[in-house]
Amino acid sequence: MSLVVVLVFFGVAAGVIGKIKGSSFFLWFLIGFCIPFGGVLAAILYRFDRKEPLRRCPECNKVLALHVQVCTRCGRDLEWPEEALFER
Ligand SMILES: [Zn+2]
Repeated sequence: MSLVVVLVFFGVAAGVIGKIKGSSFFLWFLIGFCIPFGGVLAAILYRFDRKEPLRRCPECNKVLALHVQVCTRCGRDLEWPEEALFER
């Protein structure tokens, strides 16, 4: 009985974290419930689904994540952009 309570706790924890990050509460609840520690950990490490800031390389126009410092296509050093893109 207590095991179920612990599993539900992990499920809710993973679900809330997943929901905050723009994913499905129910999906992460199931993951947290089935894989107690791993599920919560995965939810914490899971990237934000929405509004991941992006930027465009001024040299070759490749769209990269904001935190990328060197363009993966042309190798140009990238400055911190004045405005980030939010398109995918
Ligand atoms: Zn580039």
